[in-house]
Amino acid sequence: MIQEFGAEHVFDNHFEPHEPGDGSYVLHFREGGCLTHVTHVGGGDADAGDAGEEIELPRLGDYPRRPAKMTYLFSLGDERLFLALDDRVAAPAGFTYESVNWLRRAEPQHLLFAAATASQLDRWYRENRYCGRCGAPTELAPASREIVCPECARIVYPKICPGVICAVVSRGDDPADDRIVLTRYAGRTTALWALVAGFTEIGEPLEGTVRREVMEEVGLSVKNLRFYKSQPWSFTDTIMVGFWCEVDGDDALRVDHSELKEARWFRRDEIPLERTGDRASMTGEMIERFRLMGRAAWE
Ligand SMILES: [Zn+2]
Repeated sequence: MIQEFGAEHVFDNHFEPHEPGDGSYVLHFREGGCLTHVTHVGGGDADAGDAGEEIELPRLGDYPRRPAKMTYLFSLGDERLFLALDDRVAAPAGFTYESVNWLRRAEPQHLLFAAATASQLDRWYRENRYCGRCGAPTELAPASREIVCPECARIVYPKICPGVICAVVSRGDDPADDRIVLTRYAGRTTALWALVAGFTEIGEPLEGTVRREVMEEVGLSVKNLRFYKSQPWSFTDTIMVGFWCEVDGDDALRVDHSELKEARWFRRDEIPLERTGDRASMTGEMIERFRLMGRAAWE
């Protein structure tokens, strides 16, 4: 998954008021793009997540002019990363703005994680330049990751929205007949088979989100919910929480076509192989786990 990479790049999100040096990574975002140097262009199937692109991110010493406003982001092992908050910067030679969504398929994994996570913080800083309560210009707290209003003392914390990924399964009389529900979204150009998923509503426990989303998207009741893993998914400001759940009663799918193009039950041997190269997403991991392990995936 996107947060899983080598032990030499341990993610440390503790905020301290560090100063960047020439060797520090300094990320800059503009209109959904991250300043990136593509060091190797892949040729594989992009949708399968194994296209082979390799990237490098800019270091302060690469910039022809030092960005005026920078803040510390986090560390990955010995590397400190910073964010340039200027609207525009003088781009280092060889670096262009590449869509953060496109970077999802790039290597190395720790820089992909860095770009995605930094993009979430960049959105948070840029969307909170003014206080939502009194309208005054906000400031960055000097020693913590908080945005503060100097007029009314309001504090804004980073935005993290919980959501669920639901692997709905059914047990066959024979384990080979166990099945899983895969869905495809409507209205997206890259419509990979996926799992039921959705955001948690206010006032709703995560288990309630699972039951509601499964009922809304495919019309099934579920039981035996089991927490699997969670994963930060910065592309949508989300923490995704993965659950296995078993269909309860009638297994006839009633698909919500306003959201989904289609949904189907798949046996293990029927699952498309399009996710085998998806190293980033928990959805891909859960589908592969079911394909390879059957009911041992959730028991
Ligand atoms: Zn205020």
